[in-house]
Amino acid sequence: MNTTDELTTTDVLIIGGGGAGCRAAIEAHDLGAKVTMVLKGKFGNSGCTLHVGTSAVVGFNDDEDDSDISSLCDLISFGGFLGNQDLAKILVTETMERVEEMVDWGIDFLREDDGSVYTYRSAAHTRTRNFTFSPVNPRKHDYGAPPGMAMMDTLTEQIERRGIRVLDDTVLIDLIKGDGKVVGATVLDCETGSLKVVTAKSTVLATGTYSQIFSPTTVSPFETGDGHAAAYRVGAELTSMEASQFVATSIPFPPGTKFLNSLGEEFLPKYGIDNPRDFAKEPLAYAVWKEIMSGRGFKGDNIMLDLSNIQEPESFPWFMDNVERSIKKTGRDPRKEPVESHPKSHTTMGGIVINERCETTVPGLYACGAVAGGVYGHARPEGYTSMITLVFGKRGGEYAAQQALDSPEPVLDMDEITGSFARANAGVDELAVTKASDIKRKIKLATKRYAWVIKDEEGLSKGLCRIQALKDEVATLRAATGRQWARTLEARNLLWAVELHFIGALARKESRGAFFRDDYPDTEPDWLKNIIYSQVDGSLVMGYREPELKYCDPSHHGAPKYRPTSHYGVREYA
Ligand SMILES: Cc1cc2nc3c(=O)[nH]c(=O)nc-3n(C[C@H](O)[C@H](O)[C@H](O)COP(=O)(O)OP(=O)(O)OC[C@H]3O[C@@H](n4cnc5c(N)ncnc54)[C@H](O)[C@@H]3O)c2cc1C
Repeated sequence: MNTTDELTTTDVLIIGGGGAGCRAAIEAHDLGAKVTMVLKGKFGNSGCTLHVGTSAVVGFNDDEDDSDISSLCDLISFGGFLGNQDLAKILVTETMERVEEMVDWGIDFLREDDGSVYTYRSAAHTRTRNFTFSPVNPRKHDYGAPPGMAMMDTLTEQIERRGIRVLDDTVLIDLIKGDGKVVGATVLDCETGSLKVVTAKSTVLATGTYSQIFSPTTVSPFETGDGHAAAYRVGAELTSMEASQFVATSIPFPPGTKFLNSLGEEFLPKYGIDNPRDFAKEPLAYAVWKEIMSGRGFKGDNIMLDLSNIQEPESFPWFMDNVERSIKKTGRDPRKEPVESHPKSHTTMGGIVINERCETTVPGLYACGAVAGGVYGHARPEGYTSMITLVFGKRGGEYAAQQALDSPEPVLDMDEITGSFARANAGVDELAVTKASDIKRKIKLATKRYAWVIKDEEGLSKGLCRIQALKDEVATLRAATGRQWARTLEARNLLWAVELHFIGALARKESRGAFFRDDYPDTEPDWLKNIIYSQVDGSLVMGYREPELKYCDPSHHGAPKYRPTSHYGVREYA
């Protein structure tokens, strides 16, 4: 393989084409930088932003008692006070500007009959802040929900109008360094199977989560932690890699749903949950998994949802769609007989450490969106993540462009490039695809068995051993075609991410936010600190950093209270 097969030069390289990557690209372009986007899958049909249902902002409701600080306190307290309050403040204060800009670019909202924006209070928010984007001229998508599709349509149209260069179906292999800073990336063109180098004065990672270490999961297949792993390999700090979120049920459920165990008991009330719709994903997932762990699940890891008491089911069109689909597929009407359901992994909270300018700890490298960690801490109230993509996407693009426009041409280190190509291209292995699928399957089995909703020392230790035993198998996976090769590269990245997940979960000896340890069920004041992961001379170094409690702290007057008899460190909302 020739290292200069193809060389692309740009000012700002954006890796990832979800909400954060698109918003970053628009900003960097508008500031005058030459921008190149690299993304897995097809432009506009890639990443989790397409799934977004609800978003949150202060200002649509006429609630005079609501404020940015009250929103910040909800977010920070729900995440166990581990979130970076400077970043959270930026998020809550800049969201409305970003939403208004989306309106200028053609997006609409779900509205009341009088034309005002329809708002509602979502679990984990103490005030009514949630709203729903609505598509104006919907494009065709491979998957997603209408509000997320509306976001992606709006952003992709702006990118097309600006003529920004997009290399889709192209995956990041490694970030490359020259003269101590990141100067671009090596990438694989999945269509042709060729390796390329994109040199850049600034590089922005917007590659989403690493939730593909789990199965079943709600996230898109693209979320394999590639950005996390690449940043870690060049020495960037990562945080909260032990934190991930689960949803309690495999299907959405309307108000009036009863959660039943294998004894036919409605079990949520014994966990202090009267109406599941009023509770956030975290306590619900805890209750469901605890019931299953106690041997009261159906067929292993299921519970049953009794949907026979839904009032006015027609007012939930998505529910009626599900009913129709079920009748068509299985002949069963879920309104008449209970349906099986199980928890699923959702998004991850950990990621690359950034500051207010979206700078990582490695010069020349920026991160925004779900790949960046630290904003929430250990849980995620509904609706903020979609706004993180816009707020920090804009910031990432802005500061990356500013740096690029002030920088000389990057200095390339050819050894870095040949090293990256050599690692990716150790000769075609006929069995690479099978081996990579097998490694992915083993990773998912290990997380399902040992790092699911509620964890403990014994399980985490066993799981970590299994994961570490897989590392040797991954060294030389090079498949024949570009797309297959991309899948084999993912196995390597998933292993980096999952190893940090297990090591961090073992280290954190408490329960906090969405992080539950059965053997350490309480939230420990001494653990009010973030775990920082970085690689120095090829080895993992772990550090601990206490969050600055600038605007909100555990004794904060307005913050929701810990549940008094908590086994699991979740908060109770009135
Ligand atoms: C089912 C579901 C429902 C959700 N609902 C909500 C909600 O209602 N409200 C809310 O606020 N949030 C919600 N979220 C969370 C939210 O969707 C995401 O956190 C957010 O959209 C992340 O945006 P992003 O741009 O950072 O990443 P994504 O939109 O995931 O984009 C990541 C991009 O990086 C690309 N990529 C990955 N690896 C590589 C690589 N090696 N090379 C090149 N490109 C790469 C991907 O292909 C993709 O283009 C939901 C998430 C899921 C999964």
